Amino acid sequence: MAEEFDLVILGGGTGGYVAAIRAAQLGLKTAVVEKGKLGGTCLHKGCIPSKALLRSAEVYQTAVKSEEFGVVTGDVKVDFLKVQERKNKVVDQLYKGVQHLMKQGKITVYEGLGRILGPSIFSPMPGTISVEMNNGSENEMLIPQNVIIATGSRPRTLPGLTIDGEFVLTSDEALKLENLPKSMIIVGGGVIGIEWASMLNDFGVEVTVLEYADRIIPTEDHDISSEMLRLLTKKGVKFVTGAKVLPETLKTDVSVSISAEVKGSVEEFTAEKMLVSVGRSANVEGIGLENTEIVKEKGFIETNDFFQTKESHIYAIGDCIGGLQLAHVASHEGITAVEHITGQKPERLDYSLISKCVYSSPEAASVGLTEEQANKEGYDLKIGKFPFRAVGKALVFGEADGFVKIIADKKTDDILGVHMIGPHVTDMISEAGLAKVLDATPWEIGKTIHPHPSLAEAIGEAALAVDGRAIHS
Ligand SMILES: Cc1cc2nc3c(=O)[nH]c(=O)nc-3n(C[C@H](O)[C@H](O)[C@H](O)COP(=O)(O)OP(=O)(O)OC[C@H]3O[C@@H](n4cnc5c(N)ncnc54)[C@H](O)[C@@H]3O)c2cc1C
Repeated sequence: MAEEFDLVILGGGTGGYVAAIRAAQLGLKTAVVEKGKLGGTCLHKGCIPSKALLRSAEVYQTAVKSEEFGVVTGDVKVDFLKVQERKNKVVDQLYKGVQHLMKQGKITVYEGLGRILGPSIFSPMPGTISVEMNNGSENEMLIPQNVIIATGSRPRTLPGLTIDGEFVLTSDEALKLENLPKSMIIVGGGVIGIEWASMLNDFGVEVTVLEYADRIIPTEDHDISSEMLRLLTKKGVKFVTGAKVLPETLKTDVSVSISAEVKGSVEEFTAEKMLVSVGRSANVEGIGLENTEIVKEKGFIETNDFFQTKESHIYAIGDCIGGLQLAHVASHEGITAVEHITGQKPERLDYSLISKCVYSSPEAASVGLTEEQANKEGYDLKIGKFPFRAVGKALVFGEADGFVKIIADKKTDDILGVHMIGPHVTDMISEAGLAKVLDATPWEIGKTIHPHPSLAEAIGEAALAVDGRAIHS
């Protein structure tokens, strides 16, 4: 069977399904081809399930500490199967929501593996999509005017380090654990590694993080990464930075052990399981790129500012093009691509306006340049910092660690970067995001009257602190 479409999207993850909805809004006859489940990594193996587990860990810790709040409970235990059941329920509910949105938008969903074909009897240009249907029925042929590749990414491992799914896991397998291990080695102290370290530690698992760089979450501002290290260490996570893991030393039996070169000597680490979180590779194999002029750069699909590949009617968005591999980035790239296809003249995405979050406990969030980046770009900086321990609501919450840091340009007063670590900062960062979009100055944030008591008072005070005007410090 062959059917014509205005747009076919390969991959129904956060990037793909959001692009499909925008396309339907703009009147395009749209199809999504998805080999797994609509919602992709974010909904089934990433953002949502991991945050559901983190929330259970947080509730457990709140219960453990409830006597501090004058609430006396009995023996507090974790029923991990129930934790997993709750996580699955949240995922299911959102999955149904995405399916409903596809129906509402009259978007045709093909459940199967899509491949791009070269010029054929159907079209003189590459871009016909052949779908190998999951239900075994005959391949479908889709003939689109435009294509968006949104095939996402998968966990990477270190060369020579085999993921066996039993002792050595990626986040895909870890999310399906039926029991909590007693101990876990985490290879990689980036965002995913830190979220897992925090969650497992809160559940009572002994955690050791081995990070190759000289600091954890190395893409964040150095003050945030050292505060995260300090606070998680205080909670019991062990960190080894500057650790070069040696895959050839991996031993698995009843437990897992691996050695790492640390500051010139070799140390061995042992735990019940090991999680490898060292980044993600783009899903660009087996999708027919060889039938096109599309170019890859370091394993990711190369695009221009509007996400067109070297075949101008074939776009690519989300994790498969690299850059910031985040769900909200994928969806906004998708929206931009669709608006470009339909001649809406969208603005180029400004990646300096995109917020990045770490959902550990404490949380971290940022937008814009780090202090190092701002210095490297030659700005003359003024910096305001305000601690949560001076914020009434943080003390009321019993979560007074962390701070807000605002970096501004001395010459123009422009806000260059905002970095936060502490309670609920992943929700608060949007104020800084909006300030960046509106080109607000620290003075304007300081002028915004933040309600009392609220955690956001820390943002107002940090903004005042940029010019030495903070009240409570
Ligand atoms: C543990 C973890 C936690 C994360 N937490 C966050 C978070 O808190 N916040 C955040 O912003 N991001 C988070 N991310 C990242 C986020 O999940 C990704 O950035 C996002 O899912 C990328 O969306 P995408 O549409 O590009 O790709 P994906 O979501 O990976 O979707 C791609 C889809 O394409 C399908 N597909 C691939 N090839 C084909 C083919 N040939 N035919 C048909 N279908 C195909 C796949 O089955 C998949 O469903 C997390 C990731 C992980 C792993």
